[in-house]
Amino acid sequence: MEKVVIIGCGAYMDSGYGCPGEWRCLKAASFGEGKFDSPSSVVSFVKCECPGRSLAPNTGMAMKLSEIKPDAIHLSSCMVNAKPACPYATAEEMAKILQDKTGIPVVPGTHDYH
Ligand code: SF4
Repeated sequence: MEKVVIIGCGAYMDSGYGCPGEWRCLKAASFGEGKFDSPSSVVSFVKCECPGRSLAPNTGMAMKLSEIKPDAIHLSSCMVNAKPACPYATAEEMAKILQDKTGIPVVPGTHDYH
């Protein structure tokens, strides 16, 4: 089973109903739906906090402290498809920062649920 880290947009998680921290990302990972090719084990769920500067270090710390090297890092669908978009960075920019920092492939998105 693949091991994955999921990154959620904290600004949305703190204010949105049905936010990714509740079930969507987790269900998609559990059942191998949406952007997950197969049922996957979520080994970390990292919350981005505006303006996003702590995201890469916090993700690296989660990997270090958990002593688990994930197969992939998923940016939540609420980050990738946000409208209005994150004012600080595009999903592509965040993905590049995370990939450069961790060496782990970053997948844009998690689920297709509404
Ligand atoms: S920096 Fe962007 S992605 Fe991160 S919490 Fe703020 S709005 Fe969300």
